[in-house]
Amino acid sequence: MLPEQTDVLVVGAGPTGLAVAVTLAAHGVRATVVDGLAEPPVTSRAAVVHAGTLEVLDRIGVSAPLAARGLPATRFSVRDRDRVLVTVPFDRLPSRYPYALLVSQAETEAVLAERLTALGGRVLRPYRLTGLDLDAAGATARFAGGETVRARWVVGADGMHSAVRDLAGIDFGGPADDPGESFLLADVRVDSDLPRDQVSLFLGRQGPLVWAPLPDGTVRLVATVPDAPREPRARHFQALLDERGPARRPDRVTELLWGSRFRIHHRIAGTYRSGPVLLAGDAAHVHSPAGGQGMNLGLRDAVALGDTLAAVLAGRPDQLLDGYAAARRPLAEEVVGFADRLTRLATVPPAVRPLRNLLFRVVAGLPPVRRKIAVRLAGFEPDRAVIRR
Ligand SMILES: Cc1cc2nc3c(=O)[nH]c(=O)nc-3n(C[C@H](O)[C@H](O)[C@H](O)COP(=O)(O)OP(=O)(O)OC[C@H]3O[C@@H](n4cnc5c(N)ncnc54)[C@H](O)[C@@H]3O)c2cc1C
Repeated sequence: MLPEQTDVLVVGAGPTGLAVAVTLAAHGVRATVVDGLAEPPVTSRAAVVHAGTLEVLDRIGVSAPLAARGLPATRFSVRDRDRVLVTVPFDRLPSRYPYALLVSQAETEAVLAERLTALGGRVLRPYRLTGLDLDAAGATARFAGGETVRARWVVGADGMHSAVRDLAGIDFGGPADDPGESFLLADVRVDSDLPRDQVSLFLGRQGPLVWAPLPDGTVRLVATVPDAPREPRARHFQALLDERGPARRPDRVTELLWGSRFRIHHRIAGTYRSGPVLLAGDAAHVHSPAGGQGMNLGLRDAVALGDTLAAVLAGRPDQLLDGYAAARRPLAEEVVGFADRLTRLATVPPAVRPLRNLLFRVVAGLPPVRRKIAVRLAGFEPDRAVIRR
């Protein structure tokens, strides 16, 4: 049952909301966490947790159990069909987790939920937020079943279509008439010669194709496409592999386990804080999944916000929360810029491709550049911490 009042109401129990709640619980703050769904989703969705994120999650006791459920990829290779343009090593990252961890989002959420339970918290379901009255001392949240909760702080971790963001009147940018970039993704069984210790990114003329091994022996494929079919089938992914993947020994899709399509704009909320309302994760930023950064950025937002909220509840000035907003928003801008550059690199005209490949091999072949790409992909953020432990 919902409490009448709470210090922190976290709306949304996806990876971001769960990580905010775990961080607060680790500081001894019991947040009220609600989700509109009766059960957590079981689909795989975001499939990679990077080293920079694992370092941050380590502080809340989540990385070791998560690593035990995933598959470590020690390298990331950029390819043009059969040609490897550059191999980025993760195994030399300055981290206890020198790899990209391939793991289904459902597992990531399960590990976070277990950690929350271990710290004495839980998610209250199904409670869908429908109204928010804001005032100087906090907010009154209204739910679809008629319940209300009075909260000092409200965290909008309710995803791309965030009700918290809309009810607080925070702008989400992006052109209203542009349908956004179109993606196809799937988990498939595939007969392939590609190495399973690395994530491969093919810079296909028609757009990028990501090939990532998953722990259960399947492979995650993600590609930009001009127009995605309503019901993706194995043949659509076979066509993508034939068009963009290895040419000498082509991959063969033997089974489609799960496929999906979506369109996405690159959008960032006008602000991450408006009075008692704070945004994190997809509620604050959405962008292409091509660089595998979306959920990672949200998880790192979440720990930063949990730390900051706990400090404010312990008596530090609430302007610290403006610091959270000011520090995190530029990081989303960087990730959006990175995803844009990746797509532009993939889709250069055919005449320019040999030059692009040559430049890529020369520039990205330099060890300092390779290290920089590894650090960037891994999500190690510049130290803009508002709060220190
Ligand atoms: C099909 C698919 C594939 C994806 N693939 C990738 C990928 O390969 N790589 C990648 O980085 N990202 C991927 N993503 C995006 C990734 O899943 C998100 O970045 C991530 O889930 C964001 O986490 P979040 O907790 O911020 O939001 P969400 O996971 O969206 O969680 C929001 C939660 O809020 C709840 N909620 C919403 N509205 C309300 C309300 N009014 N009241 C109460 N609760 C509410 C929802 O039920 C949900 O549980 C994919 C997403 C989808 C849908």
